[in-house]
Amino acid sequence: MMGGNITEDELIAFLKAIEKGVILLTPQEDPQQVYAGNVTYLASNGWRMVVFNDANEWDYIDQVTTPDQRVLAFEEIEAMPEAGQYRPDAAAAWACYGIPGYMKFKCKKCGAALPLQARILPFLCHKCRPGTGSGSEKVNHER
Ligand SMILES: [Zn+2]
Repeated sequence: MMGGNITEDELIAFLKAIEKGVILLTPQEDPQQVYAGNVTYLASNGWRMVVFNDANEWDYIDQVTTPDQRVLAFEEIEAMPEAGQYRPDAAAAWACYGIPGYMKFKCKKCGAALPLQARILPFLCHKCRPGTGSGSEKVNHER
């Protein structure tokens, strides 16, 4: 498709592919470090997406940009009947976006809830921090 806007069908396909793990997202800031604000992701298909993180809850898509500079802004997405209502479930928000849920903090490696003192970069529990513990209890967090 040349020029014009990103269509709603394209956007929905993109979001579904993220949920399925076909398209992978790389956050440019740690979402838990941002906590409340925009998180920018580079997608493995070349798209760039900005998601508003509201107290560690996936809130809405602020912007999507394709490599050929097609852009969808929040207002346009919000006006779409299906994409405007889109929200990943809690499992996908964590697995695909690294956003752990409203006012929650989770270990990036094993998903354990983080105590207050561990709610800082690199967002790892005491078991998963390098150089601590036996390392034998590592949980594989593959999809
Ligand atoms: Zn952990």
